[in-house]
Amino acid sequence: MDSIRSSNEHDKPHAVCLPYPAQGHVTPMLNLAKILNHKGFHITFVNTEYNHRRLLKSRGPDSLKGLPTFRFETIPDGLPPSDADSTQDIPSLVESTTNTCLGPFKELLAKLNNTSSSNVPPVSCIISDGCMSFSLAAAQDLGIPEVFFWTPSACGLLGYMQYRDLSEKGYFPLKDATDLTNGYLEMALDWIPGMKGIRLRDLPSFLRSTNPDEFMFKFLIQETDRSKFSSAIIINTFDSLEKEVLESLQALLPPIYTIGPLHFLVKHFEDKNLECLGSNLWKEDPKCLEWLDSKKPNSVVYVNFGSITVMTVNQLIEFAWGLANSQMDFLWIIRPDIVSGDKAILPSEFVEQTKERGMLTSWCLQEQVLSHPAVGGFLTHSGWNSTLESIGSGVPMICWPFFAEQQTNCWFKGTQWRIGMEINSNVKRDEVKNLVRELMVGEKGKEMKKKAMEWKKLAKEAVEKPIGSSSVNINKLINEILLKH
Ligand code: UDP
Repeated sequence: MDSIRSSNEHDKPHAVCLPYPAQGHVTPMLNLAKILNHKGFHITFVNTEYNHRRLLKSRGPDSLKGLPTFRFETIPDGLPPSDADSTQDIPSLVESTTNTCLGPFKELLAKLNNTSSSNVPPVSCIISDGCMSFSLAAAQDLGIPEVFFWTPSACGLLGYMQYRDLSEKGYFPLKDATDLTNGYLEMALDWIPGMKGIRLRDLPSFLRSTNPDEFMFKFLIQETDRSKFSSAIIINTFDSLEKEVLESLQALLPPIYTIGPLHFLVKHFEDKNLECLGSNLWKEDPKCLEWLDSKKPNSVVYVNFGSITVMTVNQLIEFAWGLANSQMDFLWIIRPDIVSGDKAILPSEFVEQTKERGMLTSWCLQEQVLSHPAVGGFLTHSGWNSTLESIGSGVPMICWPFFAEQQTNCWFKGTQWRIGMEINSNVKRDEVKNLVRELMVGEKGKEMKKKAMEWKKLAKEAVEKPIGSSSVNINKLINEILLKH
């Protein structure tokens, strides 16, 4: 099926897309929404008011006007109003969306369904982020399908799905704060199908708490539980990458549709009208691409810790000197809010010493950077989008996981996919220097590059029309779930 044809605009199926309001969730949801729109769905894409303002700022006043069949709407996130241009505190945002968003979301659905005034087709399905599960109640009220889109890796989701067991088996909460540092987290677990041998410290990080009521831990139990009542689950991954993990998840959840890498799949549905819709919350600096043009193939290490990671000034300085001492060329993206509670200021000697071979800027078009031939390696926090984008470009990684399922992604990259090396969370300049050199010019780096190129090929195959697994699955998702109403 290439697209649903309907003679009348009002007969179109209408999907309401509700991303969790953070960069790494909004971007894949937008890609999915574009594909569905191309396939004939009317789309309502729901941002929070906070992100709506930020998008207007980064992308211009006309950027959210939408198209006749692709509209943007907003709901409040429930946090105190703010004009800040930075990532919101994740636990506060999670608590607030969970507790306050259902009412405004239902009001929005009622407005859309009031066909005499709304001028759009009635809402026929909801695609909600897995971390916005309050929306399930709204779908149940309307008697329409609700699909949860989990934007982390399948291995990350499987990790979250262990939280209840970890609690029942006594691994959570930690008995004592010293367990964080005394080697306890090194314990390997052999009972999780699909991730045998994984250590406690490689599972999603919210288990690292002595508080039995740890909010994020409980929250993820609630969200994964509610997923069991959805019509289906979407994951932005591809079958050959996470085969065993997906088999384990299949036994625990409603039908799962793997449709990744979405940033590839969306390109198979070239649609000039949709090109103007974007999701970057910061303004990108296009100059880094020109800078890369001046560099030799595979010669630049690209450094970016995503949209949420924060670090101390000391950690920033250790990274800086590690990069300087590696003698490699580097492109380092330093978000203005990357240092918690402080300005990200680098030592002037570092800037002076590296000005010939380093470029620093605050945000970039990451997909384009990673696919630039000059980029030979990626120092990343291991967010799932960054990981998939790196895999899709055949770029090996050094991983400095910050939180959530980034630790799990890091373990899979190191031990299963063989495309990543972990860097100690207590980062020191010598380790940065040594790992960067190993990545860029060492034997291990060469092996990882070879592996990364193999995964890239498989990623491309997954989205190939008509037989790639993700390409098949998007059609199945539409026919088996989204149009069943
Ligand atoms: N990103 C970008 N430019 C940057 C940094 C990040 O376009 O300078 C994008 C990146 O391509 C990815 C997303 O922001 O799609 C970050 O998501 P990820 O899951 O990697 O990490 P998070 O930000 O959620 O920690």
